[in-house]
Formats: sequence, structure tokens, C-alpha cells
Amino acid sequence: MIEVKNVTKTYFINRKTKCTAIDDVSLVLPDSGMVFIIGKSGSGKSTLLNLIGGLDNTTSGTILADGNEITTFDQRLLTKYRSSYIGFIFQDYHVLNSFTLLQNINLALDITNSSDDQKVEEILKVVDLTEYKDRYPSELSGGQKQRIAVARALVKDAPVILCDEPTGNLDSKTSQQILDLLKEISKDKLVVVVSHNMVEANNYADRIIELYDGKVVRDRRRSVNYSNNFKIEDNIIYIPHYRDLTEN
Ligand code: ADP
Ligand code: MG
Repeated sequence: MIEVKNVTKTYFINRKTKCTAIDDVSLVLPDSGMVFIIGKSGSGKSTLLNLIGGLDNTTSGTILADGNEITTFDQRLLTKYRSSYIGFIFQDYHVLNSFTLLQNINLALDITNSSDDQKVEEILKVVDLTEYKDRYPSELSGGQKQRIAVARALVKDAPVILCDEPTGNLDSKTSQQILDLLKEISKDKLVVVVSHNMVEANNYADRIIELYDGKVVRDRRRSVNYSNNFKIEDNIIYIPHYRDLTEN
């Protein structure tokens, strides 16, 4: 569980001008499910994600991960937190071009000092990349590169996956494949997706948190578990309206 308590992040643009990117935000994020953070450009989405992921320090307030106050961690603990607790997925993939697909995935394990060839093979299957494992990123599509990022997050068994506009560079069909994969993963991990695509959020989110000027202005959860919500009567499948989200 991630708890964000009264977190503010202020950037100094110069000595006189400051920008409050996150303004007294409090949130509790569960251990599983797909949570979208939406809002227009500049609303603080990436800042919030980076604070949760320990990539940036809060100006005030606290963030707890499973009860541990990460906002008090020293560099060593922060590195450990980022490498073992959090999996990051970025819009521009962050894969290393001089390494093969397999080497890119193994790098994640080198950082956590673990190695498990069988696990890597299993994860390659999950992300459907087995036959590409010896290719270099330049020989892969955007969707395949993003699946490397997903594999990297999975292989180290991080309980939390943070995604910053993961489909921002992908066409709609490939975006859907990545989101389907993340949705599957969110059955037993927390997947947080920053997006400005409302259609994606409406189709995939269990919860949608909306930011405006660094503040949470709306927080909605899906009222029903949609996987249990199909109804078949007289050979007609009734599909629920996924857009029904309820205000918190
Ligand atoms: P979003 O991801 O929603 O587009 P960001 O979190 O990137 O928004 O940015 C929120 C606000 O903080 C913006 O006004 C942005 O200009 C500012 N900001 C973000 N990072 C920095 C930085 N390193 N230095 C100064 N201002 C920043
Ligand atoms: Mg951003």
C-alpha cells in the first residue's frame, strides 16, 4: 500500500519564481488494481509519479510504502526501493540500444543482484517476446520495446509498476495490447498509469484520479468488478457500460 500524505512539491524556476507542481495531495493506493492519473499537460502527473517512485524528493509531506516512510530514506535505501519495489515504464521506453532484448531484461536483475534464467524465459512468454530475445532495440517495434520495459518491471518482481504515458508513442492497436498486458498484471500488482487519454482511462481504470494545478480535483472508482459483470441470457451477452465510475 502506498500512502501519500499532504505532499507538496515546489520547483524553483529561478531565485524569485517558484512553481507548485504538487499542492498538498493526499491519497491511498491499494496493493493491486489499475489506477489512472489523468489531467492536462502541466497538472503535475509526472511529478506525482516520480515522488511515489522515489525519483524526486518532496518539499513537504510524507509518502509511505507498506508503512515505510520513503521520504526519510537515505540514498542507499532509495536506490534499493527504486530497484526492488518499483518498476518504471516510460513513454520513450528507456531501453539501452547497445544491448539485446535479453540483456536489457537481465540488466534489471543485475541491479537487484538476482539472476534466474527460468524466470526470464517465463516472463518473455508473458510479454510475447521469446522469439526476439537476441534482437537489438533498433530491430524492434515501439510496442516490442515497451514490452521490454514491462518485462524488466516484472522480472524483478516489483509490487508496484509506475507508468508515465506508456502508450504515448504507440498506435492505438499497440496501445491496447500494452494496456491489456498491464491490466492483467494489475490483478496482483498495483499498476499506476499516467495518461491524458480519457478513453484509455475509461476503458481500463479501476480508479481515476484527476489532477488540476497540482491538486486532486476528482477521484472515482469503478463501482463493480467488471470481470464478474457479464450476463448471458437467451444467448445474448449483456456487456456492462464500463464508463460507469462513481465519485469517491
Ligand atoms: P504533467 O506530467 O502533468 O504534464 P509535470 O508533473 O511534468 O506535469 O509538471 C507539473 C508542473 O511542474 C509544470 O508546471 C512544470 O512546468 C513544473 N515542473 C516539472 N518539473 C520541473 C522542474 N524540474 N523544474 C521546474 N519546474 C518543473
Ligand atoms: Mg508528464
